[in-house]
Amino acid sequence: MKKPFVIAIDGASSTGKSTLAKGLAKALGFAHVDSGAMYRGVTLYAQQNDLLENKTLNTEVLLSQLDDIHLRFEGDTFWLNGVDVSAEIRSMQVSEAVSLVAAIPEVRAFLVAQQRIMGANQSVVMDGRDIGTVVFPKADLKLFLTADVNIRAQRRFDELSAQNASTSVEEVRNNLAERDHLDSTRADSPLVQAADAVPLDATQFTVESMRDHVLDLVAERLS
Ligand code: C5P
Repeated sequence: MKKPFVIAIDGASSTGKSTLAKGLAKALGFAHVDSGAMYRGVTLYAQQNDLLENKTLNTEVLLSQLDDIHLRFEGDTFWLNGVDVSAEIRSMQVSEAVSLVAAIPEVRAFLVAQQRIMGANQSVVMDGRDIGTVVFPKADLKLFLTADVNIRAQRRFDELSAQNASTSVEEVRNNLAERDHLDSTRADSPLVQAADAVPLDATQFTVESMRDHVLDLVAERLS
C-alpha cells in the first residue's frame, strides 16, 4: 500500500481551517478530520451528563467515563454515541466550555490516539490546534492559518445566524478571544506554529485561491 499523505492544518478558531481542509480533501480524495469536533463532542457529552455547569467541570467523573464516549465521522456528519450532533456541537454553549475540556491532558491523550489511527492507514487532511506539533509531527505538509479577529468573528456569527442561533458579533468575538487565549497558553499542546509549517494569512486569499495555492504545495511535495 502507498504510504498515506498527511496534511496538518493548525490555527485559531474560525480562520477557515475546516473550509480549507474540506476543499483539499475533496480535490485530493483524502479523508477530512475536524479534530475540533472531537473536543466539542467530549464537551457536549459532559454537558448532557451534568458534568459541566457554568464552566465548572467534574473532571474526575468525566475521565472515568471517557471509554463510554464514542465519536465517529461520516462525511460531514458527526456522531456522539450513535446520535448525529453535527449542529449541536457548534452551539455557543459548547464553544464557551470546550477550551476548558481541551486543556485536560487525559482528554487530549484519549483523542490524539484516535486521531493518529485515522491518519495511519489513509491519506488525510486534519485540522486543529496541535496537529502539526503533536498529533503528526512528521506530517507531509503543515499549514498554519491566521486571520484578522474581526473577520473571524463575523464569519462565525454568520454561520451561527444561518442556524438561527441568537447571539451577537460581540459575543462571538469575545468567545474567540477567550479561546485563543486559553488554547495558546495551556500547558499541554498549546496552539503554536510548528517550525516547519507554512504560514497562510487567510485574509489574503479567497477560499478557492487558498485551496489552489495549497494544492500546488501538495503537488511539489509529491513530486
Ligand atoms: O476548531 P474548533 O474551534 O471547533 O475547536 C474547538 C476547541 O477545541 C478549540 O477552541 C480548542 O480548545 C480545542 N481543540 C484543541 N485541539 C485541537 C482541536 C481543537 O484543543 N486539535
